[in-house]
Amino acid sequence: VSSVEVTQAHLDRIAAVDGDVHAFLHVNEKALDAAADIDRRRAAGEQLGPIAGVPLAVKDVLVTTDMPSTSGSKILEGYMSPFDATVVARARQAGLIPLGKTNMDEFAMGSSTEHSAYGPTHNPWDLERIPGGSGGGSAAAVAAFEAPLALGSDTGGSIRQPAHVTGTVGLKPTYGGVSRYGAIALASSLDQVGPVTRTVLDAGLLHDVIGGHDPHDSTSLTDAWPSFADAAREGARGDVLKGLKIGVITELPDSGFQTGVASSFRATLDLLQAQGADIVEISAPHFEYGVAAYYLILPAEASSNLAKFDSVRFGLRVDVPGGTVEDVMAATRDAGFGDEVKRRIILGTYALSAGYYDAYYGSAQKVRTLIQRDFDEAFGKVDVIATPSAPTTAFKIGEKIDDPLQMYLNDLTTIPANLAGVPGISIPSGLASDDGLPVGIQFLAPAREDARLYRVGAATE
Ligand code: GLN
Repeated sequence: VSSVEVTQAHLDRIAAVDGDVHAFLHVNEKALDAAADIDRRRAAGEQLGPIAGVPLAVKDVLVTTDMPSTSGSKILEGYMSPFDATVVARARQAGLIPLGKTNMDEFAMGSSTEHSAYGPTHNPWDLERIPGGSGGGSAAAVAAFEAPLALGSDTGGSIRQPAHVTGTVGLKPTYGGVSRYGAIALASSLDQVGPVTRTVLDAGLLHDVIGGHDPHDSTSLTDAWPSFADAAREGARGDVLKGLKIGVITELPDSGFQTGVASSFRATLDLLQAQGADIVEISAPHFEYGVAAYYLILPAEASSNLAKFDSVRFGLRVDVPGGTVEDVMAATRDAGFGDEVKRRIILGTYALSAGYYDAYYGSAQKVRTLIQRDFDEAFGKVDVIATPSAPTTAFKIGEKIDDPLQMYLNDLTTIPANLAGVPGISIPSGLASDDGLPVGIQFLAPAREDARLYRVGAATE
Protein backbone atom coordinates (compact mmCIF):
# COMPACT_ATOMS: atom_id res chain seq x y z
CA VAL A 1 0.00 0.00 0.00
CA SER A 2 1.07 3.57 -0.58
CA SER A 3 1.56 6.18 2.11
CA VAL A 4 -1.32 8.17 0.61
CA GLU A 5 -3.64 5.17 1.06
CA VAL A 6 -2.54 4.55 4.64
CA THR A 7 -2.79 8.22 5.52
CA GLN A 8 -6.20 8.56 3.88
CA ALA A 9 -7.45 5.50 5.78
CA HIS A 10 -6.45 7.12 9.07
CA LEU A 11 -7.96 10.48 8.11
CA ASP A 12 -11.19 8.64 7.29
CA ARG A 13 -11.09 6.89 10.63
CA ILE A 14 -10.56 10.23 12.40
CA ALA A 15 -13.51 11.70 10.49
CA ALA A 16 -15.64 8.71 11.52
CA VAL A 17 -14.83 8.41 15.24
CA ASP A 18 -13.09 11.52 16.53
CA GLY A 19 -16.36 13.34 17.07
CA ASP A 20 -16.93 10.81 19.87
CA VAL A 21 -13.34 10.19 21.02
CA HIS A 22 -11.92 13.74 20.70
CA ALA A 23 -8.32 12.54 20.60
CA PHE A 24 -7.23 15.34 18.25
CA LEU A 25 -7.05 19.09 18.83
CA HIS A 26 -5.90 19.68 15.26
CA VAL A 27 -5.76 17.50 12.15
CA ASN A 28 -2.97 18.20 9.68
CA GLU A 29 -4.49 19.41 6.39
CA LYS A 30 -1.15 18.78 4.69
CA ALA A 31 -0.87 15.13 5.77
CA LEU A 32 -1.79 13.82 2.31
CA ASP A 33 0.74 16.11 0.62
CA ALA A 34 3.48 14.80 2.89
CA ALA A 35 2.35 11.23 2.14
CA ALA A 36 2.33 11.87 -1.61
CA ASP A 37 5.85 13.24 -1.33
CA ILE A 38 7.03 10.02 0.36
CA ASP A 39 5.32 7.92 -2.33
CA ARG A 40 7.04 10.00 -5.03
CA ARG A 41 10.44 9.63 -3.42
CA ARG A 42 9.96 5.88 -3.00
CA ALA A 43 8.87 5.55 -6.64
CA ALA A 44 11.99 7.47 -7.68
CA GLY A 45 14.08 4.78 -5.98
CA GLU A 46 15.13 6.73 -2.90
CA GLN A 47 16.13 4.53 0.05
CA LEU A 48 13.75 5.47 2.87
CA GLY A 49 13.76 4.32 6.50
CA PRO A 50 11.72 1.34 7.77
CA ILE A 51 8.69 3.39 8.85
CA ALA A 52 8.72 6.08 6.17
CA GLY A 53 5.19 6.93 5.05
CA VAL A 54 3.53 5.86 8.30
CA PRO A 55 1.21 8.42 9.98
CA LEU A 56 2.09 9.73 13.43
CA ALA A 57 -0.07 11.49 16.03
CA VAL A 58 1.81 14.17 17.98
CA LYS A 59 0.96 15.23 21.53
CA ASP A 60 0.24 18.94 21.61
CA VAL A 61 3.04 19.51 24.15
CA LEU A 62 5.48 19.15 21.21
CA VAL A 63 5.89 22.27 19.12
CA THR A 64 5.36 22.16 15.35
CA THR A 65 5.82 24.81 12.68
CA ASP A 66 2.81 23.86 10.55
CA MET A 67 0.17 23.24 13.25
CA PRO A 68 -0.73 25.16 16.43
CA SER A 69 0.88 23.98 19.68
CA THR A 70 -1.22 24.71 22.76
CA SER A 71 -0.14 22.17 25.37
CA GLY A 72 -3.85 21.90 26.12
CA SER A 73 -4.00 25.49 27.40
CA LYS A 74 -6.01 28.57 26.47
CA ILE A 75 -2.95 30.69 27.15
CA LEU A 76 -1.35 29.19 24.01
CA GLU A 77 -4.49 29.05 21.85
CA GLY A 78 -3.44 29.25 18.19
CA TYR A 79 0.25 29.52 19.06
CA MET A 80 2.53 28.78 16.08
CA SER A 81 6.10 27.79 16.86
CA PRO A 82 8.96 29.07 14.69
CA PHE A 83 10.66 25.66 14.96
CA ASP A 84 9.83 21.95 15.24
CA ALA A 85 10.59 19.97 18.39
CA THR A 86 13.61 17.78 17.69
CA VAL A 87 11.50 14.61 17.91
CA VAL A 88 9.08 16.02 15.32
CA ALA A 89 11.93 17.13 13.04
CA ARG A 90 13.44 13.65 13.28
CA ALA A 91 10.08 12.03 12.59
CA ARG A 92 9.63 14.13 9.44
CA GLN A 93 13.22 13.36 8.43
CA ALA A 94 12.45 9.64 8.74
CA GLY A 95 9.43 10.10 6.45
CA LEU A 96 6.72 9.82 9.13
CA ILE A 97 3.54 11.74 8.33
CA PRO A 98 2.34 14.02 11.16
CA LEU A 99 -1.42 13.41 11.28
CA GLY A 100 -2.30 16.03 13.85
CA LYS A 101 -1.90 17.21 17.41
CA THR A 102 -3.45 15.26 20.26
CA ASN A 103 -5.39 16.38 23.29
CA MET A 104 -3.82 16.48 26.73
CA ASP A 105 -4.29 17.80 30.23
CA GLU A 106 -3.28 21.46 30.31
CA PHE A 107 0.53 21.65 30.39
CA ALA A 108 0.53 17.87 30.97
CA MET A 109 -0.87 18.21 34.49
CA GLY A 110 -3.29 15.38 35.08
CA SER A 111 -4.14 11.71 34.76
CA SER A 112 -7.40 11.86 32.83
CA THR A 113 -7.18 14.52 30.07
CA GLU A 114 -10.13 16.21 31.79
CA HIS A 115 -7.89 19.18 32.57
CA SER A 116 -7.56 20.05 28.88
CA ALA A 117 -8.87 23.55 28.18
CA TYR A 118 -10.43 22.07 25.02
CA GLY A 119 -12.66 19.44 26.63
CA PRO A 120 -11.95 15.84 27.59
CA THR A 121 -10.89 12.91 25.43
CA HIS A 122 -13.01 9.76 25.74
CA ASN A 123 -11.62 6.26 26.17
CA PRO A 124 -12.41 4.26 22.99
CA TRP A 125 -13.09 1.16 25.15
CA ASP A 126 -15.94 2.99 26.91
CA LEU A 127 -16.69 6.54 25.90
CA GLU A 128 -17.89 7.45 29.39
CA ARG A 129 -14.44 6.74 30.78
CA ILE A 130 -11.15 8.62 30.85
CA PRO A 131 -8.31 7.68 28.46
CA GLY A 132 -5.69 8.45 31.13
CA GLY A 133 -3.51 11.49 31.18
CA SER A 134 -1.90 13.67 30.54
CA GLY A 135 -1.43 12.08 27.12
CA GLY A 136 -4.95 10.69 26.79
CA GLY A 137 -5.27 12.02 23.24
CA SER A 138 -2.25 10.12 21.94
CA ALA A 139 -3.25 6.87 23.68
CA ALA A 140 -6.90 7.13 22.58
CA ALA A 141 -5.87 7.88 18.97
CA VAL A 142 -3.75 4.73 18.89
CA ALA A 143 -6.36 2.59 20.69
CA ALA A 144 -9.14 3.81 18.36
CA PHE A 145 -7.04 3.07 15.24
CA GLU A 146 -7.01 6.77 14.35
CA ALA A 147 -3.20 6.61 14.29
CA PRO A 148 -0.80 3.67 14.21
CA LEU A 149 1.91 5.52 16.15
CA ALA A 150 1.92 8.45 18.56
CA LEU A 151 4.30 10.58 20.55
CA GLY A 152 3.72 11.31 24.20
CA SER A 153 5.55 12.90 27.10
CA ASP A 154 5.97 11.39 30.54
CA THR A 155 6.79 13.49 33.60
CA GLY A 156 5.12 11.27 36.16
CA GLY A 157 3.37 8.64 34.06
CA SER A 158 1.67 10.49 31.20
CA ILE A 159 2.77 7.92 28.61
CA ARG A 160 2.46 4.76 30.72
CA GLN A 161 -0.82 5.37 32.58
CA PRO A 162 -2.77 6.27 29.40
CA ALA A 163 -1.27 3.14 27.79
CA HIS A 164 -2.49 1.09 30.77
CA VAL A 165 -6.10 2.31 30.55
CA THR A 166 -6.35 2.07 26.74
CA GLY A 167 -4.64 -1.29 26.13
CA THR A 168 -1.69 0.26 24.31
CA VAL A 169 2.09 0.18 24.74
CA GLY A 170 3.87 3.21 26.18
CA LEU A 171 7.52 3.70 27.03
CA LYS A 172 9.23 6.43 29.03
CA PRO A 173 12.89 6.43 28.00
CA THR A 174 15.88 6.89 30.28
CA TYR A 175 16.14 10.58 31.24
CA GLY A 176 18.26 12.18 28.52
CA GLY A 177 17.65 9.40 26.00
CA VAL A 178 15.22 11.42 23.87
CA SER A 179 15.50 15.16 23.24
CA ARG A 180 13.25 17.53 25.18
CA TYR A 181 13.98 20.40 22.78
CA GLY A 182 10.64 21.79 21.71
CA ALA A 183 8.68 19.85 24.33
CA ILE A 184 6.87 22.59 26.27
CA ALA A 185 8.42 22.09 29.71
CA LEU A 186 6.39 20.88 32.67
CA ALA A 187 9.13 19.80 35.11
CA SER A 188 12.46 19.78 33.34
CA SER A 189 14.22 17.26 35.60
CA LEU A 190 11.41 14.73 35.07
CA ASP A 191 10.10 15.25 31.50
CA GLN A 192 10.83 12.67 28.79
CA VAL A 193 9.31 12.20 25.34
CA GLY A 194 8.50 8.68 24.17
CA PRO A 195 6.38 6.38 21.97
CA VAL A 196 2.74 5.27 22.35
CA THR A 197 1.86 2.39 20.01
CA ARG A 198 -0.08 -0.86 19.69
CA THR A 199 2.94 -3.18 19.80
CA VAL A 200 6.37 -3.17 21.44
CA LEU A 201 8.06 -3.46 18.04
CA ASP A 202 6.22 -0.33 16.82
CA ALA A 203 7.43 1.52 19.91
CA GLY A 204 11.00 0.40 19.22
CA LEU A 205 10.81 1.51 15.58
CA LEU A 206 9.58 4.95 16.63
CA HIS A 207 12.09 5.24 19.47
CA ASP A 208 14.92 4.48 17.00
CA VAL A 209 13.77 7.49 14.96
CA ILE A 210 13.35 10.04 17.77
CA GLY A 211 16.11 9.02 20.19
CA GLY A 212 19.78 9.85 20.54
CA HIS A 213 21.90 12.86 21.29
CA ASP A 214 20.63 16.35 20.55
CA PRO A 215 22.97 19.31 21.09
CA HIS A 216 19.90 21.53 21.62
CA ASP A 217 19.07 19.73 24.88
CA SER A 218 21.76 20.20 27.52
CA THR A 219 20.60 17.10 29.41
CA SER A 220 20.69 14.87 26.32
CA LEU A 221 22.94 11.83 26.75
CA THR A 222 25.72 11.28 24.22
CA ASP A 223 25.42 7.47 24.37
CA ALA A 224 25.34 5.38 21.22
CA TRP A 225 22.03 3.54 21.63
CA PRO A 226 21.34 0.08 20.27
CA SER A 227 18.41 -0.47 17.91
CA PHE A 228 15.29 -0.77 20.04
CA ALA A 229 13.41 -2.37 17.14
CA ASP A 230 16.05 -5.12 17.07
CA ALA A 231 15.71 -5.51 20.84
CA ALA A 232 11.94 -5.94 20.42
CA ARG A 233 12.49 -8.54 17.66
CA GLU A 234 14.93 -10.39 19.91
CA GLY A 235 12.40 -10.36 22.75
CA ALA A 236 9.64 -11.68 20.52
CA ARG A 237 11.70 -14.84 19.96
CA GLY A 238 10.98 -15.59 23.62
CA ASP A 239 14.03 -17.09 25.28
CA VAL A 240 14.94 -13.80 27.02
CA LEU A 241 12.60 -14.82 29.83
CA LYS A 242 14.72 -17.85 30.78
CA GLY A 243 16.53 -16.97 33.99
CA LEU A 244 15.37 -13.34 33.83
CA LYS A 245 15.15 -11.97 37.37
CA ILE A 246 11.97 -9.95 37.82
CA GLY A 247 11.77 -7.95 41.04
CA VAL A 248 8.48 -7.44 42.82
CA ILE A 249 8.38 -4.73 45.48
CA THR A 250 7.43 -6.13 48.91
CA GLU A 251 6.32 -2.74 50.21
CA LEU A 252 3.69 -2.46 47.47
CA PRO A 253 0.80 -4.56 48.81
CA ASP A 254 -1.99 -5.78 46.53
CA SER A 255 -4.43 -3.92 48.77
CA GLY A 256 -3.72 -0.54 47.17
CA PHE A 257 -4.92 -1.84 43.79
CA GLN A 258 -8.28 -2.59 42.25
CA THR A 259 -8.91 -6.35 42.45
CA GLY A 260 -8.93 -6.80 38.68
CA VAL A 261 -5.63 -4.93 38.37
CA ALA A 262 -3.90 -6.89 41.15
CA SER A 263 -5.11 -10.24 39.84
CA SER A 264 -4.05 -9.47 36.26
CA PHE A 265 -0.62 -8.50 37.60
CA ARG A 266 -0.26 -11.77 39.53
CA ALA A 267 -1.52 -13.83 36.59
CA THR A 268 1.01 -12.17 34.26
CA LEU A 269 3.83 -12.88 36.72
CA ASP A 270 2.74 -16.54 36.84
CA LEU A 271 2.88 -16.73 33.05
CA LEU A 272 6.34 -15.17 33.00
CA GLN A 273 7.48 -17.60 35.67
CA ALA A 274 6.10 -20.52 33.68
CA GLN A 275 8.32 -19.37 30.82
CA GLY A 276 11.44 -19.47 32.95
CA ALA A 277 11.58 -16.09 34.71
CA ASP A 278 12.51 -15.90 38.40
CA ILE A 279 10.19 -13.74 40.48
CA VAL A 280 12.26 -12.19 43.27
CA GLU A 281 10.94 -10.16 46.20
CA ILE A 282 12.85 -6.91 46.55
CA SER A 283 12.63 -4.08 49.03
CA ALA A 284 12.15 -0.51 47.81
CA PRO A 285 10.99 1.15 51.04
CA HIS A 286 10.83 4.68 49.60
CA PHE A 287 8.93 3.80 46.41
CA GLU A 288 5.56 4.67 47.95
CA TYR A 289 6.79 8.16 48.97
CA GLY A 290 7.34 9.02 45.31
CA VAL A 291 3.92 10.68 44.95
CA ALA A 292 4.52 12.96 47.95
CA ALA A 293 7.99 14.01 46.77
CA TYR A 294 6.81 14.44 43.18
CA TYR A 295 3.95 16.79 44.10
CA LEU A 296 6.50 19.15 45.63
CA ILE A 297 9.23 18.85 43.01
CA LEU A 298 6.86 19.02 40.04
CA PRO A 299 4.93 22.13 41.11
CA ALA A 300 8.20 23.85 42.05
CA GLU A 301 9.70 23.27 38.61
CA ALA A 302 6.39 23.91 36.85
CA SER A 303 5.82 27.24 38.60
CA SER A 304 9.21 28.36 37.35
CA ASN A 305 8.74 26.99 33.80
CA LEU A 306 5.30 28.61 33.46
CA ALA A 307 6.58 32.05 34.51
CA LYS A 308 7.36 32.69 30.84
CA PHE A 309 3.64 32.97 30.05
CA ASP A 310 3.65 36.59 31.03
CA SER A 311 1.38 38.09 28.33
CA VAL A 312 4.42 39.50 26.54
CA ARG A 313 6.50 36.63 25.21
CA PHE A 314 3.90 34.03 24.22
CA GLY A 315 0.26 33.63 23.39
CA LEU A 316 -2.64 35.25 25.11
CA ARG A 317 -2.78 38.87 26.31
CA VAL A 318 -5.75 40.24 28.20
CA ASP A 319 -5.70 44.02 28.06
CA VAL A 320 -6.62 45.98 31.18
CA PRO A 321 -7.44 49.57 30.11
CA GLY A 322 -5.43 51.93 32.31
CA GLY A 323 -3.84 48.97 34.10
CA THR A 324 -0.18 48.42 34.95
CA VAL A 325 2.06 45.71 33.46
CA GLU A 326 1.30 43.60 36.54
CA ASP A 327 -2.44 44.04 36.03
CA VAL A 328 -2.16 42.80 32.44
CA MET A 329 0.01 39.89 33.49
CA ALA A 330 -2.36 38.88 36.29
CA ALA A 331 -5.47 39.20 34.12
CA THR A 332 -3.81 37.15 31.36
CA ARG A 333 -2.70 34.38 33.67
CA ASP A 334 -6.07 34.38 35.41
CA ALA A 335 -7.93 33.98 32.11
CA GLY A 336 -5.37 31.74 30.39
CA PHE A 337 -4.61 29.10 33.02
CA GLY A 338 -7.07 26.48 34.26
CA ASP A 339 -7.66 25.53 37.89
CA GLU A 340 -5.21 22.62 38.06
CA VAL A 341 -2.41 24.76 36.61
CA LYS A 342 -3.14 27.55 39.08
CA ARG A 343 -3.22 25.04 41.94
CA ARG A 344 0.23 23.76 41.04
CA ILE A 345 1.73 27.22 40.46
CA ILE A 346 0.58 28.24 43.93
CA LEU A 347 1.88 24.99 45.49
CA GLY A 348 5.21 25.32 43.72
CA THR A 349 5.70 28.98 44.54
CA TYR A 350 4.95 28.21 48.18
CA ALA A 351 7.32 25.21 48.28
CA LEU A 352 10.15 27.34 46.89
CA SER A 353 9.57 30.38 49.07
CA ALA A 354 12.22 31.50 51.57
CA GLY A 355 11.61 29.88 54.93
CA TYR A 356 9.81 26.86 53.45
CA TYR A 357 12.37 25.77 50.86
CA ASP A 358 14.24 23.36 53.15
CA ALA A 359 11.12 21.94 54.75
CA TYR A 360 9.38 21.16 51.45
CA TYR A 361 11.51 21.29 48.32
CA GLY A 362 14.68 20.26 50.18
CA SER A 363 12.99 17.28 51.87
CA ALA A 364 11.44 16.17 48.60
CA GLN A 365 14.84 16.18 46.94
CA LYS A 366 16.16 13.97 49.75
CA VAL A 367 13.33 11.50 49.21
CA ARG A 368 14.17 11.55 45.51
CA THR A 369 17.74 10.48 46.35
CA LEU A 370 16.45 7.70 48.63
CA ILE A 371 14.26 6.37 45.80
CA GLN A 372 17.26 6.43 43.46
CA ARG A 373 19.25 4.44 46.05
CA ASP A 374 16.42 1.91 46.42
CA PHE A 375 16.56 1.36 42.66
CA ASP A 376 20.37 1.08 42.63
CA GLU A 377 20.21 -1.57 45.31
CA ALA A 378 17.31 -3.44 43.71
CA PHE A 379 18.95 -3.51 40.28
CA GLY A 380 21.96 -5.16 41.92
CA LYS A 381 19.69 -8.15 42.49
CA VAL A 382 17.21 -8.18 39.58
CA ASP A 383 17.17 -7.40 35.86
CA VAL A 384 13.83 -5.59 35.84
CA ILE A 385 11.21 -4.53 38.38
CA ALA A 386 7.54 -5.24 37.67
CA THR A 387 4.52 -3.36 39.06
CA PRO A 388 0.95 -2.83 37.93
CA SER A 389 1.08 0.25 35.66
CA ALA A 390 -1.58 2.09 37.71
CA PRO A 391 -3.87 1.32 40.68
CA THR A 392 -7.17 1.15 38.77
CA THR A 393 -8.60 0.69 35.30
CA ALA A 394 -10.14 3.64 33.44
CA PHE A 395 -12.51 5.49 35.75
CA LYS A 396 -15.59 7.46 34.74
CA ILE A 397 -15.22 10.98 33.38
CA GLY A 398 -16.03 13.34 36.25
CA GLU A 399 -15.42 10.75 38.98
CA LYS A 400 -12.18 12.21 40.37
CA ILE A 401 -12.18 15.69 38.91
CA ASP A 402 -13.02 17.39 42.22
CA ASP A 403 -10.57 15.34 44.26
CA PRO A 404 -6.98 16.23 43.32
CA LEU A 405 -5.48 13.81 45.85
CA GLN A 406 -7.35 10.84 44.35
CA MET A 407 -6.23 12.01 40.93
CA TYR A 408 -2.60 12.25 42.07
CA LEU A 409 -2.65 8.67 43.40
CA ASN A 410 -3.02 7.38 39.84
CA ASP A 411 0.69 7.96 39.47
CA LEU A 412 1.70 5.78 42.43
CA THR A 413 3.72 3.26 40.44
CA THR A 414 4.83 5.42 37.50
CA ILE A 415 6.33 8.44 39.31
CA PRO A 416 9.36 6.71 40.89
CA ALA A 417 10.89 6.07 37.45
CA ASN A 418 10.76 9.80 36.65
CA LEU A 419 12.28 10.71 40.00
CA ALA A 420 15.13 8.23 39.42
CA GLY A 421 15.54 8.89 35.68
CA VAL A 422 15.15 5.20 34.82
CA PRO A 423 13.17 3.87 31.85
CA GLY A 424 9.71 2.28 32.20
CA ILE A 425 7.30 0.55 29.86
CA SER A 426 3.62 -0.33 30.16
CA ILE A 427 2.50 -3.41 28.22
CA PRO A 428 -1.14 -4.54 27.91
CA SER A 429 -1.71 -7.53 30.20
CA GLY A 430 -5.29 -8.35 29.31
CA LEU A 431 -8.63 -7.21 30.65
CA ALA A 432 -9.48 -6.84 34.33
CA SER A 433 -11.54 -9.72 35.73
CA ASP A 434 -13.86 -7.33 37.61
CA ASP A 435 -14.80 -4.70 35.00
CA GLY A 436 -13.44 -6.04 31.71
CA LEU A 437 -11.34 -2.94 31.01
CA PRO A 438 -7.70 -2.94 29.82
CA VAL A 439 -4.86 -3.37 32.30
CA GLY A 440 -1.12 -2.89 31.86
CA ILE A 441 1.96 -4.30 33.53
CA GLN A 442 4.91 -1.97 34.03
CA PHE A 443 8.56 -2.99 33.79
CA LEU A 444 11.38 -0.75 34.99
CA ALA A 445 15.06 -1.16 34.13
CA PRO A 446 18.28 0.58 35.18
CA ALA A 447 19.13 3.87 33.45
CA ARG A 448 20.38 3.35 29.86
CA GLU A 449 18.86 -0.17 29.71
CA ASP A 450 15.85 0.79 27.58
CA ALA A 451 16.69 -2.08 25.20
CA ARG A 452 16.08 -4.51 28.05
CA LEU A 453 12.52 -3.18 28.36
CA TYR A 454 11.94 -3.76 24.65
CA ARG A 455 13.21 -7.35 24.96
CA VAL A 456 11.16 -8.13 28.08
CA GLY A 457 8.15 -6.20 26.78
CA ALA A 458 8.07 -8.05 23.46
CA ALA A 459 8.45 -11.38 25.26
CA THR A 460 5.50 -10.47 27.53
CA GLU A 461 2.97 -9.03 25.05
N1 GLN B 1 -0.43 12.57 36.21
C1 GLN B 1 0.85 13.18 36.48
C2 GLN B 1 0.65 14.63 36.81
O1 GLN B 1 -0.43 15.04 36.88
C3 GLN B 1 1.76 12.94 35.33
C4 GLN B 1 1.94 14.05 34.41
C5 GLN B 1 2.87 13.77 33.29
O2 GLN B 1 3.52 12.74 33.24
N2 GLN B 1 2.98 14.74 32.41
O3 GLN B 1 1.58 15.35 37.04
